[in-house]
Amino acid sequence: MDDPLMLDANAVAGDLAEMFGFDVSGSVHRCTNCGNQGAVATLLAYVHGPGTVLRCCICHEIVMRWVRTPTRIYLDARGAAYMEMGLS
Ligand SMILES: [Zn+2]
Repeated sequence: MDDPLMLDANAVAGDLAEMFGFDVSGSVHRCTNCGNQGAVATLLAYVHGPGTVLRCCICHEIVMRWVRTPTRIYLDARGAAYMEMGLS
């Protein structure tokens, strides 16, 4: 990875599991900007700002971002055209 501030989405698997209630790392997303489809784990994570940002690994547009407060998580997922999650 060229950018020292960038991690793979596995670094934020705990936050994602807390929001969705299960591990979504292997769930498929589609980037609204470029149409790339892939596992959430392939997104590029930026965790050093006041919030967390997941960017598309192809076009680098924002797919998801969230910020935590002591009592809430505010999630913006408009960069994901859809997410496909398996049911157990
Ligand atoms: Zn994209």
